[in-house]
Amino acid sequence: MLNLVLFGPPGAGKGTQAEFLIESYGLNHLSTGDLLRNEIAASTPLGMEAKRYMDNGELVPDSVVIGMIKNKLEAQTDAAGFIFDGFPRTVAQAEALDQLLNENGTPVSGMLSLEVVKEELVARLLNRGKTSGRSDDQDDSVIENRINVYNEKTLPLKNYYAAQNKHFGINGMGSIEEIAARLKEAIKAL
Ligand code: ADP
Repeated sequence: MLNLVLFGPPGAGKGTQAEFLIESYGLNHLSTGDLLRNEIAASTPLGMEAKRYMDNGELVPDSVVIGMIKNKLEAQTDAAGFIFDGFPRTVAQAEALDQLLNENGTPVSGMLSLEVVKEELVARLLNRGKTSGRSDDQDDSVIENRINVYNEKTLPLKNYYAAQNKHFGINGMGSIEEIAARLKEAIKAL
């Protein structure tokens, strides 16, 4: 079973590359950002709670996202593997994911970390905001906060996975195809 964690700052291209990985490897896609936006669109209590954090570029509480992932994993027992996109984002989330996957004997295969310089991230997010309608992509200060939150709370996960020999840095600058080819090489070596 191939269980990939796609990692990188907001705007690194995780969603775009996830699409390619799903097609190439037949994996199930679990994006906490998409799941949360679905909850908001359906006006569920969970969605309403999450929105307050997302609008400000803050992380949604661990208990909320961990519970959501747990439900999805339990509902998809016949998957060939998963691609985790935007999750885990904190050490507590990574520990919870390890626990869930190790219980099933299907641990994380590797964490693929897309590396992109900050100026490029901001430009990509503002550009996406023009077409996606995502309000968190349209406000400079929210974007700035998301990148800061990433550096503070999410970046430590590199060390978490490196300690398990599962961290792989991928150059996230260049064309979509070039980056996809780099990911493929890294997956071959897992
Ligand atoms: P991006 O990678 O561009 O920030 P996402 O769709 O992954 O986009 O996330 C959007 C927002 O959803 C985040 O800023 C955060 O508020 C919330 N979110 C998504 N995933 C998580 C998570 N694993 N833990 C906490 N909050 C999350």
